[in-house]
Amino acid sequence: MKKILSVNAGSSSLKFQLFLMPEEKVIAKGLIERIGLSESIISIDYLSDGEEKTFKQTKDIANHEEAVDLLFKLFYILSVVKDSSEIKGVGHRVASGGELFPDSVVITDDVVHQIDSLGYLAPLHNPPQAKVIKSFKDMLPDTLMVAVFDTSFHATLPSENYLYSIPYEYYEKYGVRKYGFHGTSHSFVAKRAAELLDRPIEDLKIVTCHLGNGASIAAVDGGRSVDTSMGFTPLAGLTMGTRSGDVDPSILPYLMEKLDLTEVDDMIKILNNKSGLLGLSGISSDMRDVETAAASGNVRAKLALEIFVNRVQKYIGSYIAEMNGADAIVFTAGIGENAPNIRDMIISGLSWFGMTIDTVQNDTRKEAVISTEDSRITVLNVPTNEEIEIARQVERLGARTKISN
Ligand code: AMP
Repeated sequence: MKKILSVNAGSSSLKFQLFLMPEEKVIAKGLIERIGLSESIISIDYLSDGEEKTFKQTKDIANHEEAVDLLFKLFYILSVVKDSSEIKGVGHRVASGGELFPDSVVITDDVVHQIDSLGYLAPLHNPPQAKVIKSFKDMLPDTLMVAVFDTSFHATLPSENYLYSIPYEYYEKYGVRKYGFHGTSHSFVAKRAAELLDRPIEDLKIVTCHLGNGASIAAVDGGRSVDTSMGFTPLAGLTMGTRSGDVDPSILPYLMEKLDLTEVDDMIKILNNKSGLLGLSGISSDMRDVETAAASGNVRAKLALEIFVNRVQKYIGSYIAEMNGADAIVFTAGIGENAPNIRDMIISGLSWFGMTIDTVQNDTRKEAVISTEDSRITVLNVPTNEEIEIARQVERLGARTKISN
């Protein structure tokens, strides 16, 4: 038995789960929010002598280093960990591994530097993640650290799907290609769906729909990602909470002129932060607010909802075409897992493919087959668990480097 920590750092947050492995039992999980702002919030759910307890505190935390320091202090105070040597491995979620990291990797100083240098592919994520990794390495210098990249699962995309139709030399010289994201989640739910279907993943064609505030779809053929909706950055593909998804790039200079913008970055910020459900509805980036407003007759909220559903349907249809078939459609993440109504809207519009939702089975937030027995393509709801997937990657790489029990 060993303790393995999964870490998911955002620009102002640090999410973690501590597992007892190999049984995959969660012994502590929590979130530090508002790092770098006033009144940061720390919340930890943990097991103490077999009893579930919760710790909550509000205090100023200036940066991620302080957050890591505080986390370990709390681990000791709450007796979640008595000595840091009990933690045999730490897995870090990293947004982009570019083409450098087609698989998870044991972290060395060079790797930290490379993660930082890939910041141009994920500017909001890679640089703070590199900093957090450094802080953990300072805290646990002798502990195995593994980086798990959101892009790695998509390293199997064939070149016809990862290349854009622009001069080839831009790929060769500047690495301009589709990288995709959310790979840890797509990989987890595809494997779990195969288990639930009790069929080898090698025999299955699966379309995985990660529909959260950020949203992407992947075509998973025989367990390998062959296409995905996000691109060079996480801005491409579906309509998201605040991101536009796919747009005609000619809109950019046209709008820049109309809006009197001189910096292209300001235009990209509009596409990243003011578009999607928020931009369309004018109400909120949160699907719950959009659904409520649509139900009470707000026309733009209804339109935002319809456009969201339409883009998901388009990608599912095109991925079924690309794989020349599909055995399963899987829904996951905040909207995918929790909004039966939206799953119903999406699948109802794809009935020609032979999928039918079972309205009773679909009324769930839990893992379930939600299509009827005679549905040609099985539709499933599979809550994602990126944290456990990260801990498994630490175990896998640890087995190679022989982490001790
Ligand atoms: P995530 O990024 O995976 O945390 O997902 C966040 C998104 O899930 C937000 O748009 C939420 O509004 C949405 N969401 C969470 N619960 C529900 C729900 N019950 N119905 C509709 N959307 C939900």
